Amino acid sequence: MRIAVLTSGGDSAGMNAAVRAVVKTGILKGCEVYVVREGYEGLVRGNTEWAEAEGQRVNTSATESVKQEVEINQYQAGSDNVNLLENLRFGDGELLKDGTSEFVGGRTLKGRYIVRVGWDDVRGWFSQGGTLIGTARSMTFKTVEGRRAAAHNLVKEGIDALVVCGGDGSLTGADVFRREWPDLLSNLYETSLITEEQLKKHGHLKIVGLVGSIDNDMSMTDLTIGAPTALHRICEAIDNINSTAYSHSRAFVVEVMGRDCGWLAVLAGVAGGADFVFIPERPPQVPWEDAMCAEIHRHREVGKRKTIVLVAEGAQDADLNPIKAEYVKQVLSERLGLDTRVTTLGHTQRGGRPCALDRILPTLQGVEAVNALLESDESTPSYMIGLHENKIVRVPLMEAVEQTRAVTRAVKAKDYDKALELRGSEFKE
Ligand code: ATP
Repeated sequence: MRIAVLTSGGDSAGMNAAVRAVVKTGILKGCEVYVVREGYEGLVRGNTEWAEAEGQRVNTSATESVKQEVEINQYQAGSDNVNLLENLRFGDGELLKDGTSEFVGGRTLKGRYIVRVGWDDVRGWFSQGGTLIGTARSMTFKTVEGRRAAAHNLVKEGIDALVVCGGDGSLTGADVFRREWPDLLSNLYETSLITEEQLKKHGHLKIVGLVGSIDNDMSMTDLTIGAPTALHRICEAIDNINSTAYSHSRAFVVEVMGRDCGWLAVLAGVAGGADFVFIPERPPQVPWEDAMCAEIHRHREVGKRKTIVLVAEGAQDADLNPIKAEYVKQVLSERLGLDTRVTTLGHTQRGGRPCALDRILPTLQGVEAVNALLESDESTPSYMIGLHENKIVRVPLMEAVEQTRAVTRAVKAKDYDKALELRGSEFKE
């Protein structure tokens, strides 16, 4: 089996560990493993084919007829122990001299996005933050034409299985791609872009999803890859803020990530000793200002010298109006006379070394992803690999995506109990 793995959407700590686990497990189980750089955008762009014409190197992807010698010599997959990715990244720059290389995310890609990788390419990746194979938000993949190009590129590379590590948007894209696959291939065959043999061989695309998201906003799994590390980063930041807040007896309003999901804010509130927390799925009744001030006043009365209020970026009141950190600061200053500052943690929450859990979870899930691919056939649904009561589980990808969407709908309809129930890990086994 030829497996490709990609990371998509917002980066999260632990994505590299997931890629590493898929690569190593795949190789151990006798598969050829490829990485797709820059998420779905890399699938759409695929690998440029080059030819020499009148002394110039020419891109022949459009005609698909000629293969370029240098490229083949330089990049053709050799033994699994060859460091193929390093070759790609630090190659001799021949393609670069011609001005034909591509730069995405500050790296030289040399027109190749789908790259076979060997054992050593992913050595030590579990301790690296972000995603080393790059991620992107691809508008092209959202179009049928884009997905058709992506299907063509996978068939050209002989790839029949795909592991996607990303958030709910990325997994929605994976589900759409899998459902459309037969039509995309028929279309490629009808337009003579693939042969009858390729059509028969690639009639079915196996897809498995891994959830990489710092927000922990996916239904049917207890934890998403990257959420534990983001929580650590927030706790470290609150520790730092706490010491200065205590010294000056100040209040701090800290904005944390969480567009639709308050998991980070709530747990950081518990871990960091916050006085009040605003999240999207449990809006305070209007006027919430009175409730917040009464609570904080009570905390001050019993002897607290510092005040920490956490605001998830998607926090809203019961009328669905956004609750902004600057406004909370104004209320605390004006009503309680507190010397108040705002700190927005922003992207510091995403970055840095994965904590132990964000190495363990993606490793176990990456192994399970490959097992699921090897065990699946045309009758099996696409799976998402989740975590349920401390066990790594396979759940139907489509159901998980649908349930996650239902949470957003429930919040919009102000049915918060329903939203929290759907967000929880309850699912049919
Ligand atoms: P995050 O949680 O960090 O936002 P995400 O995976 O939800 O991550 P999105 O930007 O929603 O991030 O999606 C990532 C990519 O997935 C998109 O740029 C697009 O290429 C693809 N995608 C999302 N939704 C669809 C869809 N309905 N059809 C096809 N592709 C999609």
